[in-house]
Amino acid sequence: MTTRTHCPYCSLQCGMTLERQGRSLEVAAWPEFPVNEGALCRKGWTAAGLRGHRERLTTPLVRDEEGGELRAASWDEALDRVAAGLRAAQVAGPDAVAVFGGGGLTNEKAYLLGKLARVALGTSRIDYNGRWCMSSAATAGNQAFGIDRGLPFPLADLEHADVVVLVGSNLAETKPPAARHLDRLREAGGRVVVVDPRRTATADRADLFLQPVPGTDLALALGLLHLLDAAGAVDEEYVAARTTGFADVRRRAASWWPERVERVTGVPVAELRATAELLAGSPRVMVLTARGAEQHSQGTATVLGWINVALALGMPGRAYAGYGCLTGQGNGQGGREHGQKSDQLPGYRMIDDPAAREHVARVWGVAPETLPGKGVSAYELLDSLGRDHGPSALLVFGSNIVVSAPNATRVTERLAALDLLVVADIVLSETAAMADVVLPVTQWAEETGTMTNLEGRVVLRERAVAPPEGVRTDLEVMAGLAARLGSEASFPSDPEEVFAELRRASAGGRADYSGISYDRIRAEHGVFWPCPAPEHPGTPRLFADSFATPDGRARFVDVEHVGAAERPDEAFPVHLTTGRVLAQYQSGAQTRRVRDLPDTGPFVELHPMLADRIGARDGAPVVVTTRRGELKAPARVVSTIRPDTVFVPFHWVGANRLTHDALDPASKMPEFKVCAAAVRA
Ligand code: SF4
Repeated sequence: MTTRTHCPYCSLQCGMTLERQGRSLEVAAWPEFPVNEGALCRKGWTAAGLRGHRERLTTPLVRDEEGGELRAASWDEALDRVAAGLRAAQVAGPDAVAVFGGGGLTNEKAYLLGKLARVALGTSRIDYNGRWCMSSAATAGNQAFGIDRGLPFPLADLEHADVVVLVGSNLAETKPPAARHLDRLREAGGRVVVVDPRRTATADRADLFLQPVPGTDLALALGLLHLLDAAGAVDEEYVAARTTGFADVRRRAASWWPERVERVTGVPVAELRATAELLAGSPRVMVLTARGAEQHSQGTATVLGWINVALALGMPGRAYAGYGCLTGQGNGQGGREHGQKSDQLPGYRMIDDPAAREHVARVWGVAPETLPGKGVSAYELLDSLGRDHGPSALLVFGSNIVVSAPNATRVTERLAALDLLVVADIVLSETAAMADVVLPVTQWAEETGTMTNLEGRVVLRERAVAPPEGVRTDLEVMAGLAARLGSEASFPSDPEEVFAELRRASAGGRADYSGISYDRIRAEHGVFWPCPAPEHPGTPRLFADSFATPDGRARFVDVEHVGAAERPDEAFPVHLTTGRVLAQYQSGAQTRRVRDLPDTGPFVELHPMLADRIGARDGAPVVVTTRRGELKAPARVVSTIRPDTVFVPFHWVGANRLTHDALDPASKMPEFKVCAAAVRA
């Protein structure tokens, strides 16, 4: 039997088919699905490798006393224990319980988790790990365009641009099937510009490669705008007709002359000029940012700086041009549209908007005044656990915080200070291993649900096999908890029923899914939101006529380069940056257990000049230290990285013990991408 579905990992949500052969499940291509045309990366091809893994959890686990071992328990015992613990915590008030979700959860799970928090628990303390992924681009998109959708056009539009500028994206390794668009673009005569402190596999495809100091992408954008304006390349007609706020931005860019930009970014003036010339002479320019530009304490400002470049050139809204964010996690986009984020209700409604509260409360059958207000962001929430009247109980769905949180040692201490930690997961992740109660849940091919990919395309993952005996779906777990907590609101556990409710809750919101149904998704290879009615075709491309702001115009936002929160000094003289490798995904809880994916463990990439200076040899251990922690790992000596920078992949415990918890003031994105470090052999 063959089932059409999508990959369990990244935001491309590549289409694939699953064939059941006896007890085994084989991944095969689905060539008709347009996003990947049958191509998958090695993570996708091996996705079935986690099924039947010996570490798969199939029974709830409880811990009877602090420091004791986890033991098997029945579902009733485990859920009763959770409900009793949550009730006991909430004697101190509703916000004594916190909820933490994930960007890999389906839309249905994200939606029901938000409802569980706001209705059954009445807590404002909910956020999710997607906050650490795309939130700076989301905030910038909302400020500039009035809407946050990763790409405002289908991914395949890349091939028809004249120039694609990738800022902080290693597309070729993080989303390999998408790299074919860059190849086709170049075959057709187009050009690719890559901005990255490391010469990555993506940079190898670039016509122009700019290698700035980590944390200086905004200065680069200001410098480009300076040169574009000086060359008369600003589209004055577009700026006058479709935007506001350019005068201040123009004034700001005027002070970023090329030599100053070179001093700050390390990018030679000649390269800066060559890039500006390329952009100035191209009718269709597409600027795409990813985590490299966004995961900074100035992430929102950095994205806005690049949006300003795109707007000055008159690109957003033009066919095969504009600005987009390459989202990361499988459902990073949908996850924030339907209520996991501390300030949002379903349909991308804001929780402090009275009309939004009233609409959603009506769908949920509760009084609007019973809904809590705005909570706090992911890191702030974790940092408040177990102290200063912060939450004493935490429910975690689909997140491995111990590996993925910034300044992870501090966050792990906060988790340890809780009275009750509950983790729903498929394996005993590093976070689940700390829990008082572990709830074993279904994975990917064992359940049905929708995901929203980086293009805003809502796709359907269909159940292909029955789950192992003993596990429940996350929806069933949430419904079971709501019932035990005595909630009178309905908590359906059938995904299509949850989706029907989500459609109603999103109707009229910015991310309107009301016209999307499972049947339509099956028939149309996904449906792009907004889709406000069953007969509406969906919206693959945004902004052709107007932007989603009150006056329909895009907003230039005046932003200034400040730089990283922590810069190299005598004690910590190099930059540390973190990122991904092709064979692993996020915290590695899934991919590190897939036998056919190489699990190298962490490593430290450094330039030969730096290696010489500290006496390090390729393959021999080096120690990276920051003000927060230390990591010992083998050196990889490569000439593709800046000599003043070291790189550590974040899929293993360790990298995030080093990273900085400085937050972007608007998006609350932590500064994963740069801090000061020392390295020794
Ligand atoms: Fe596609 Fe991403 Fe899955 Fe790789 S990990 S197959 S790029 S969805």
